[in-house]
Amino acid sequence: MVRAKNARFSFTCFLAVLIAVMFVITVVLSFKLLTIDQCNCPSLVPELRPSSKPSLKLISTKHRLAVLVPYRERFEELLEFVPYMHRFLNNQQVYHNIFILNQVDTYRFNRASLINIGFLQVKSDFDYVAMHDVDLLPLNENLSYAYPKQPVHLAAPELHPKYHYSKFIGGILLINREHFQLVNGLSNRYWGWGLEDDEFYVRLKDAQLNVTRPENITTGVNNTFRHVHGKDRKRDTTKCYNQREVTRKRDRQTGLHDVRYNVLGYKSLEIDGAPATVINIQLICNHTATPWCDCSPQKSGKV
Ligand code: UDP
Ligand code: MN
Repeated sequence: MVRAKNARFSFTCFLAVLIAVMFVITVVLSFKLLTIDQCNCPSLVPELRPSSKPSLKLISTKHRLAVLVPYRERFEELLEFVPYMHRFLNNQQVYHNIFILNQVDTYRFNRASLINIGFLQVKSDFDYVAMHDVDLLPLNENLSYAYPKQPVHLAAPELHPKYHYSKFIGGILLINREHFQLVNGLSNRYWGWGLEDDEFYVRLKDAQLNVTRPENITTGVNNTFRHVHGKDRKRDTTKCYNQREVTRKRDRQTGLHDVRYNVLGYKSLEIDGAPATVINIQLICNHTATPWCDCSPQKSGKV
């Protein structure tokens, strides 16, 4: 009798403990699921985390570089660019993120507008930018990507493999946030290849900014950069409507303030362990102001 009572008592105890344990497990599990759910929320805003962990020294200086790469259909070059630049900048302990400004509309390529838009996307998190061609790789590690007090033209005429005129400012240019804003970024009138960088040179000059170039570089035009520009990468030099006439002149109207576009999305990618952010950009063309954004025969009347 006593044994039966004892057995019933132990069984009740066992049941109570079991229920308590199951209750605890359920609470813990549902809490976990809740937090996992919250972490997985899709976000439209890209993570603007730097690609490299800053050293203590860099945390104290707080300079952050956004590498702005105007881009369309240069996949081979991109595969090489991202890991190469990530390592190059890490070696210099530069706190950075690479942004691929991918033009997805059907207008002619507009390098300048893409850079303006890239700047607008990153300006709250980065205090300087590199306007950087995807096909130009720095070979000399003395080419410094440090914060520029004045604009620094890295792909200097005496170092660039192809362009050697004294006012050349294309290829790779470092500029801090305040100076880029001061000159209203680049002109949005340049659709197709060329001249937008020359116009930007005049903007910097007019703002009395002193463009500096790397000093004490012992390499030359053949071994300072690798220009990965195959024969199949044709430059779009077409001119239609009054493009030639307008784009020869200094533009005092357009720039950072009036660039029109839609950002269609952000994608994070990793190439050989090196991270980058692709921003898909749809440019909007004002056909009255710049009809040469589309020189196709039907549009430009040239058959
Ligand atoms: N670009 C691009 N797709 C194009 C044209 C240009 O991605 O269809 C970008 C790319 O970053 C390239 C830069 O614009 O490096 C400058 O163009 P390009 O190399 O043709 O000029 P170059 O300096 O060689 O005359
Ligand atoms: Mn090129």
